Amino acid sequence: MALIQIEGAEKRYGDTVALDGVSLRVGAGECVALVGESGSGKTTLLRTINRLTALDRGEVVVRGESVEALDPVALRRSIGYVQQDGGLIPHWTCLANAALVPTLLGLPDAELRGRRALGAAGLEAAVFAERYPRELSGGQRQRVAIARAMAAEPDILLMDEPFGALDAITRHEAREAFIALRTSARVTAVLVTHDLGEALRVATRIAVMRAGRIVMEAPPEEMAGKATGYAAELLARSGLSA
Ligand code: ADP
Ligand code: MG
Repeated sequence: MALIQIEGAEKRYGDTVALDGVSLRVGAGECVALVGESGSGKTTLLRTINRLTALDRGEVVVRGESVEALDPVALRRSIGYVQQDGGLIPHWTCLANAALVPTLLGLPDAELRGRRALGAAGLEAAVFAERYPRELSGGQRQRVAIARAMAAEPDILLMDEPFGALDAITRHEAREAFIALRTSARVTAVLVTHDLGEALRVATRIAVMRAGRIVMEAPPEEMAGKATGYAAELLARSGLSA
């Protein structure tokens, strides 16, 4: 059974259709990338999984249970989430940020988990623990955001354009660190990106979104061969088509 199962998801904001009947299944260990232009519904879809977005219609099932039936706070703490802007608490140290979820969960080893998570995200805890987000580079801040999402060792990780604001070299490094972390932590991930090249590099499956729908789904190695219409256009625009 899929770890995450979305069926017929519909969401409107006034006259705007954000999700127009989306179904998606994510199996344990997969890394699914949601790719598409700005406004195509990627963030909305991602946030249905931890119930930050409530659907008008359709259903989201996580670990075999409908999210509607679960306590939303407990659900959110059980799922790692990297927001689009990183979302670090500016007046908290890196360690306090990284240890946030274990602390909220009341785990006795919350600080140790925060330190470990910083290390796993490629930041030496001895150097970075007591620093504040403003004292870090963009790439380092992104690593703290990833550490925070992973510190409670969730089985599911949601990431919204986690490498978006970084320069090319930092972006490459952060992405490689994520690939290593994802496989070693055996976490199931859903990643939003508008960069098809990035999706091809990190994902095990790619879902192309357009106007609130998934218009194509394929593993990276099949993208170039399978893409037609809009997906082919996206590939061509990224300079990635065969
Ligand atoms: P993406 O992440 O692909 O850029 P979003 O999921 O953020 O797209 O948005 C999809 C559509 O829904 C857009 O037209 C956006 O303006 C609209 N939308 C998203 N969130 C809200 C909101 N809270 N209120 C009103 N409109 C929203
Ligand atoms: Mg978005």
